[in-house]
Amino acid sequence: MYDYIVVGSGVAGSVVARKLAEEGNKKVLIIEKRNHIAGNCYDEDDEHGILIHVYGPHIFHTGDESVREFLSRFTEWYDFGHEVVAKVGNQLIPVPFNLNTLHMVFDKEKADYLEKKLIEQYGEGSRVPIMKLRENEDADVREIAEYVYKNVFLRYTMKQWGQKPEEISPEVTGRVPVVISRDNRYFKDKYQSVPKNGFTDMFRKMIDHKNIDVKLGTECKEVMKFENGKIFYNGEEFKGGVIFTGAIDELFDCKYGRLPYRSLDFHFEHYDKESYQDHSVVNYTVSEDFTRITEFKFLTGQENTDGTTIVKEYPFAYTGAEGETPYYAIMNDENNALYAKYKKDTEQFSDFHLLGRLAEYKYYNIDAMCLKAMELANSLLEK
Ligand SMILES: Cc1cc2nc3c(=O)[nH]c(=O)nc-3n(C[C@H](O)[C@H](O)[C@H](O)COP(=O)(O)OP(=O)(O)OC[C@H]3O[C@@H](n4cnc5c(N)ncnc54)[C@H](O)[C@@H]3O)c2cc1C
Repeated sequence: MYDYIVVGSGVAGSVVARKLAEEGNKKVLIIEKRNHIAGNCYDEDDEHGILIHVYGPHIFHTGDESVREFLSRFTEWYDFGHEVVAKVGNQLIPVPFNLNTLHMVFDKEKADYLEKKLIEQYGEGSRVPIMKLRENEDADVREIAEYVYKNVFLRYTMKQWGQKPEEISPEVTGRVPVVISRDNRYFKDKYQSVPKNGFTDMFRKMIDHKNIDVKLGTECKEVMKFENGKIFYNGEEFKGGVIFTGAIDELFDCKYGRLPYRSLDFHFEHYDKESYQDHSVVNYTVSEDFTRITEFKFLTGQENTDGTTIVKEYPFAYTGAEGETPYYAIMNDENNALYAKYKKDTEQFSDFHLLGRLAEYKYYNIDAMCLKAMELANSLLEK
């Protein structure tokens, strides 16, 4: 009955399903274990009518015209230049650290002197890794690198990844940029937006197609079996293609061990006031146990709300316990080798494709995920 089964209805699953259904006239079944579509981009109104991102704040940003064009078929956009500030002491400073930040944290004379030096040596508009600043002969310039490391990078990274300072790779530290410009935007991409009526609405329209059926609240292994090189659906061998966007280790009952992830605990709070922090995102880089606070109305552009809702993010090590969500793959040689073992096991199935952050054990932004899914669909349709 179906040409393809797609496991998961996040960015990866929804994009690939739409293209196969529309451009190839393929019959597609999406199987989704949650009771809703849209994967981690899922948003909904909270009890106060405020649109919240249930699995953490998401901003769509891209410079890729093909991705923007594809998604724009299913939504209009609320465009904005996304800015992030970090709370350091009593100040809210722009991050990544830029020339505006420089003038906030150093006195005027020193900031003017450093600005001139940075522009002369590295050029206006450039992004200089702090490793480079550390090599500078001028001790004052080196001080900028120290400031960024201590106040913007170190504790935030320790919280996010659960690492001790000595475990943080100097390579990663060194890549943290200082931006030689007055542009406070967090991303450099041409498009920085959220769907006007929310992500869920965009994905709902995307998978609303006569060739697509969606089965919610169904863990794929309840209806599918993967054994001895064969895939079964509802007890019968399935001869079509399968695009799997779920966790690859769970597909094989974690037989080689669990792939490690960082997870997040989201604490939502509502306040009966106009605004909580006047910014969409405030990073807590030197204090608190949470990494950041997002105030949704500044992210979504929602107006005339009754009060305001925020979310605090507390990172922790994913254990696989009921109710936990794996968010960030911890990519290192050991974990990548474990992933490779699972991937090898999928080679027994023909027309079986791993797609997405869980199935590929890597981090994707929405745009990169969308592009990868479009490319997979194109290659399947060319076959
Ligand atoms: C906290 C956080 C913030 C982020 N913010 C941004 C941002 O601002 N901008 C940006 O571009 N990107 C952001 N991302 C990345 C973005 O979330 C991913 O690019 C995107 O979710 C990847 O889509 P996906 O389809 O691979 O995965 P998912 O969205 O996780 O979708 C996978 C789906 O498969 C389902 N599933 C899994 N296993 C099974 C199974 N066995 N049976 C049935 N269904 C199954 C899951 O329930 C889920 O719905 C963020 C990520 C995180 C963690």
